[in-house]
Amino acid sequence: MLLLRTDPLKPDADVIRFAAEVLKRGGIVAAPTETVYGLFTHAYSDGGCAKVFKAKERPPDNPLIVHVDSVEMAAQIAYIPEEIVDVLRRIWPGPITLVMKSRGAVSRCVTAGLDTVAVRAPAHPIPLAIIKELEAPIAGPSANKAGRPSPTTAEHVVEDLNGEVDVIIDGGPTFFGVESTIIDVTRKPPILLRPGPFTVEELEKYFGPVEIPPVARGLIETDVALAPGMKYKHYAPNTPLVIVHFDLSLAVETLRSKGLKVAVLCATGRCTNADVVIKMGDDLYEVAKNLYRSLRELDRFSVDIGVVPAVEETGIGLAIMNRLRKASGHREAFNLGQLLKYGLAQPVF
Ligand code: AMP
Ligand code: MG
Repeated sequence: MLLLRTDPLKPDADVIRFAAEVLKRGGIVAAPTETVYGLFTHAYSDGGCAKVFKAKERPPDNPLIVHVDSVEMAAQIAYIPEEIVDVLRRIWPGPITLVMKSRGAVSRCVTAGLDTVAVRAPAHPIPLAIIKELEAPIAGPSANKAGRPSPTTAEHVVEDLNGEVDVIIDGGPTFFGVESTIIDVTRKPPILLRPGPFTVEELEKYFGPVEIPPVARGLIETDVALAPGMKYKHYAPNTPLVIVHFDLSLAVETLRSKGLKVAVLCATGRCTNADVVIKMGDDLYEVAKNLYRSLRELDRFSVDIGVVPAVEETGIGLAIMNRLRKASGHREAFNLGQLLKYGLAQPVF
């Protein structure tokens, strides 16, 4: 395995050529995007795709996202509804993935045999340059082991996939830190499958009203009818985590008064005295950027419980709450009684 470092804004041409060569020969390459690090294969390669699933230990019925460099390349693999061609020209490249009818061009392994395909153009010079060099789309999920938090640095990729990929390109920390927004445009109105950095407010400007099902808010774990691959459990730290919808200091003090050791994931200035403070950031973009690193960190401290303040579900806040609900196993406390129920359910040593 090779670890190659390059400037994310001006990627080294030799690194890009090498990565494209590896993909052409059916190898797999981890590289940053503007959302999280991806683990990429040539989208037409059955063998490369199989390697991605094996390295990630990903269930074979959970399809990958195909990354393209243009609307033209997307049109080679998907039937783009006519009325959204111009919209795509305006919103791509960016963190917005569209589920469309597939032309059956990419490997069946990539789409997990579905008749739809998820496509996006990443707004990051490294994957864009690789796609251009390869003159073909690349498919990739996040570059973590299935069930682990998505990687936002090359170190996270090494932690999870050391020795199991051909090349890791280190282009520094990713910009947004949460995975792309996914909408299904085969349905009318379009349905939000996963909230991400491209916000619902922005989506509705371009696509008109968008349906937001409970699964997109993270209120339920899965909706197999909407997104076949989404039935799999997402990352949850070993340390129990509770989302707190009321005064955070009161929550922390109360848990500590019961003899519990408490970590707080601190967001948008709402830090408080706790045994461990993990600072995520002062605005929602910083919180998103540091979210997965903070969840990885939580388990490094031996605390009884982690608490995190709820954030407003507007803008990128919707994506943050979706990921937090999954990570907390849907533990949300709106009052002290609920908090104590979660807190005291943990064994106290
Ligand atoms: P990841 O790249 O790990 O964030 O995973 C990609 C996500 O896209 C998964 O949750 C898939 O279920 C979803 N996805 C990919 N292709 C499709 C599709 N054709 N229909 C619905 N969801 C999809
Ligand atoms: Mg993933």
